[in-house]
Amino acid sequence: MTVHAPAIPAGGAWPDPGRWMHDLAADLYPLPRSLTGDGVRATLERLALEIDLEMHELPSGMPVFDWTVPDEWNVREAWIAGPGGERIVDWADHNLHLVGYSQPVRRTMPLAELRPHLHTLPDQPGLIPYRTSYYDRDWGFCLPHAQLEGLPEGDYEVCIDATIGPGSMTWGECFLPGQEEREVLISAHVCHPSLANDNLSGIVVAAALARALAERPRRHGFRFVFAPATIGAIAWLAVNQKRTARIAHGLVLAGVGDAGAFTYERSRRRTALIDRAVEHVLCHADEDATVGDFEPYGYDERQYGSPGINLPVGCFMRTKYGTYPEYHTSADDLSLIRPEQLQGTLDALLAIVDVLERDRAPLNLSPMGEPQLGRRGLYGGCGGTSHTRVDQMALLWVLNGSDGETSLLEIAERAGMPFATVARAADRLAEARLLA
Ligand code: ZN
Repeated sequence: MTVHAPAIPAGGAWPDPGRWMHDLAADLYPLPRSLTGDGVRATLERLALEIDLEMHELPSGMPVFDWTVPDEWNVREAWIAGPGGERIVDWADHNLHLVGYSQPVRRTMPLAELRPHLHTLPDQPGLIPYRTSYYDRDWGFCLPHAQLEGLPEGDYEVCIDATIGPGSMTWGECFLPGQEEREVLISAHVCHPSLANDNLSGIVVAAALARALAERPRRHGFRFVFAPATIGAIAWLAVNQKRTARIAHGLVLAGVGDAGAFTYERSRRRTALIDRAVEHVLCHADEDATVGDFEPYGYDERQYGSPGINLPVGCFMRTKYGTYPEYHTSADDLSLIRPEQLQGTLDALLAIVDVLERDRAPLNLSPMGEPQLGRRGLYGGCGGTSHTRVDQMALLWVLNGSDGETSLLEIAERAGMPFATVARAADRLAEARLLA
């Protein structure tokens, strides 16, 4: 494994988080991730060089709610040699070439027998598709359709040197304690092999958020879960049932590195604080952002939002899964995710976290008529830039809204101002002892 981004000591300089995230994605890109196995472990070990990560293993066969922890899958080599003996497809060149969870095979067969095991995208003939066969015992290879069309008749030698058997399933967890017991859950799947937007972008943005929050005082605890999709989230929930009561807000991060506008799918609760916080931040940050309702389909928000769990966890994306041409193909590579796009996602998440951390319902201590702001140095006097006018409007909105029941987020929503502007005004009024 090539390591581009050395571990940054806590409190150390971090001049370019966007570049840091992209370099980390480049290191993780070639690792052969799946639901289980050494590719997931290598991914988590690489992350552990950057953030404080604990690794967890659950044994194959362990029941988790209605599911069972799967057997572990590891591959040593996988290739097809053509009639002339040359390797026409090799997993060592691109790990999308092998269908995930392929059974071991070592046989020579005619093209007609091999063909049902070859997967292509006729509409995107230059790309390798992403295919898995987790729960049916099968095997297969993926290749560009153009290559399939050129294969001559003859005998093909197939080698899949892999093991599927009892082992374990691995996930990683990073916990940053806060002053309060309440936690924010950030969840990213770690089971896709060489696919950059889905899913390395979610992994590296979550890691960067953990890195950024580790250096700040925190009201909430922040729990980052890096687990294989579906079965990983289900297993995490099954073994953490007591802990879930502490989760006050949460986000699944996926597909957050492409150039598209942000997409948010609300939690099953629809009007949780996380839903309102994301919607508020996106409406000020990105006029093309889309906010939609929860659907029982997509990423792991559907596990966190199953009826017996019902946590306020939404799904934060850029372009929605399944709607961009590179999705689940070899075109979802490192060129699709750009440092500035990853940085834009991190900035939006930090603004959302800021709402969760700073939202409160303040009380105006001088509510009989407006307090005299000029005397306290809070009134700009004559002139004033538009910036100071906005700040002054924010002071007036906060003073008027602070009845001890209305939250800063509600005041920001009513004022049509970014939460950060309103929260800054509240801090200034609190310093002037006008607000409790
Ligand atoms: Zn996917």
